[in-house]
Amino acid sequence: MRQKAILASSNKHKLEEIQEILKAFDFELLTLADVGLGDLEIVEDGETFEANSYIKAKAVMDLKQMITIADDSGLEVDYLDGAPGVYSARYAGDHVSYADNNKKLLEALEDVPSESRTARFVTVITMLFENGDQLVARGEVSGIIGTALKGNGGFGYDPLFYVPEINKTFAECTSEEKNKLSHRANALVKLKALLKERQI
Ligand code: IMP
Repeated sequence: MRQKAILASSNKHKLEEIQEILKAFDFELLTLADVGLGDLEIVEDGETFEANSYIKAKAVMDLKQMITIADDSGLEVDYLDGAPGVYSARYAGDHVSYADNNKKLLEALEDVPSESRTARFVTVITMLFENGDQLVARGEVSGIIGTALKGNGGFGYDPLFYVPEINKTFAECTSEEKNKLSHRANALVKLKALLKERQI
């Protein structure tokens, strides 16, 4: 029988990416809205991506007692000692736009040469089961922060995240291209391997 699993994210872009990547897998994926939790607000006050993805998964598990998959992700810039990191969504302040965050990042890296603009996107996915078991998968992708926004696709920091191997920013990629390379894709590949190991 197909198992049901809730994706504990209301970010439409991430949801699409995760759904696309997991569609070959034998789970019926439900969104928070599907289970009546469309308005759920979870305080993500962890200091690591691992802690925040667990906080999200646990909050939904406590309410629904159903397998829950939660991800937490963000951008780590080496020159900024890993910032914005877990604060990626609110780098420029509370309730800011992606454009505000990108502007702040460009300002923080003003006049920083390209060899010092190295960065990585990180995703940690936590999958929680009703019996308390958990699987944790971390995925990363390396890139360089550009000096100007490039491309119209994706979301968040994508227009500033240049990937040398493909000579494009994530915002210049099709969703298929991004889904092959992304931090979320890498984390999901690991999650699939963990699920296989457990014969789930
Ligand atoms: P969340 O806490 O996992 O929702 O992600 C935090 C923030 O990280 C998002 O609001 C984005 O600014 C950024 N982020 C995460 N993944 C991506 C991505 O794939 N592209 C661009 N920005 C991302």
